[in-house]
Amino acid sequence: MGTAVARALDLLLPAGCVSCRIWMPRSEARDDAPICARCRSRLRMASWPRCTRCDAPLGTGIARLSDAERSDCHECRPWSTALSTARSAFLLTTPASDLVHALKYEGWSELAGFMAGRMAGALRDTANRASTVWDQPGGVCDAQTIVVTPMPTTPTRERRRGYNQAGLLAEGVASELGLPLKPLLIRTLDRRSQIKLEPSQRRANVSGVFAPHPAMGVISGTSVVLVDDVLTTGATASEAATLLIGQGASSVHLATFGRALPEPFSSLP
Ligand SMILES: [Zn+2]
Ligand SMILES: [Zn+2]
Repeated sequence: MGTAVARALDLLLPAGCVSCRIWMPRSEARDDAPICARCRSRLRMASWPRCTRCDAPLGTGIARLSDAERSDCHECRPWSTALSTARSAFLLTTPASDLVHALKYEGWSELAGFMAGRMAGALRDTANRASTVWDQPGGVCDAQTIVVTPMPTTPTRERRRGYNQAGLLAEGVASELGLPLKPLLIRTLDRRSQIKLEPSQRRANVSGVFAPHPAMGVISGTSVVLVDDVLTTGATASEAATLLIGQGASSVHLATFGRALPEPFSSLP
C-alpha cells in the first residue's frame, strides 16, 4: 500500500490501541493487532526463578523461593495431578489484561494471532530449556502424538461473542507450532461466573463442567496442549485435565496468554 493511501486510511479509519486507547499509525499495527508499540513493549513476563511445573515466578504471590528445590510450588500444589504443567506468555497486568478483555468482551478477534504468537513463543522457550518438563519422560516432547485443544466455553457465550476466544488462540498456537488442532472437550454447564469466588469455591464450582467432545475419538498416548486466555487458580484447567487423563491422554499441559498472580506482588522468603 502506498504511503499516501496508508495516511489517508489512517485519517479515515483511525486505529486506537486497545490498551492505552491512543490513536496509532496503521504501520504500527504491523500484524493487524490493534496494540501500539509502546504497549507491546510494556507486556511483562514472569521473573526468574520460576516453578518448573506452573511457571509461577518464585518469591511472588504464594510461590516461595524455597519452592525452587521442588517440582511444584504453593501456587500449583492444589491442582489436580492430571495437569502436568502450565505456561503463560505474560503476567496478567496492564496491558496484557487489556488485551484479554478486548479479545473476550470487545470483539477484537484481530488480537488472537498476536496473542497466540506470544504463547507459542513461551511454549517454544520451554521446549528449549533442558531442565523443563517438556523434555523429560512424560513431557510433551516424549509423547507420540501432541494435539492442541481449546478450553471450551458455553454455547450461549460463544453465540453472544461470535467466537470462543480460547478457540481462536488455540488455532493460532497450533498453526505457529505446526501441531494438529482438535476439539476434545465441551462445556456442559453454564455455571455462574467465577470472578467473585474464593479459590476453594472455584474448585467446587467447576466440578462436572466438562464432557468429551463428540469428535474426541481415541486420545490414548496423546499429550494435550490445553489453550485458554488466562490462568487464575488452575481449578478449571485441573477439571478439564482430569477428564482428558480419564479418557486416556498421557499428559495435559496448559498454555495461556495471561497469568494472574495474587496481589500484591509481595516478596516471600
Ligand atoms: Zn497502547
Ligand atoms: Zn508451581
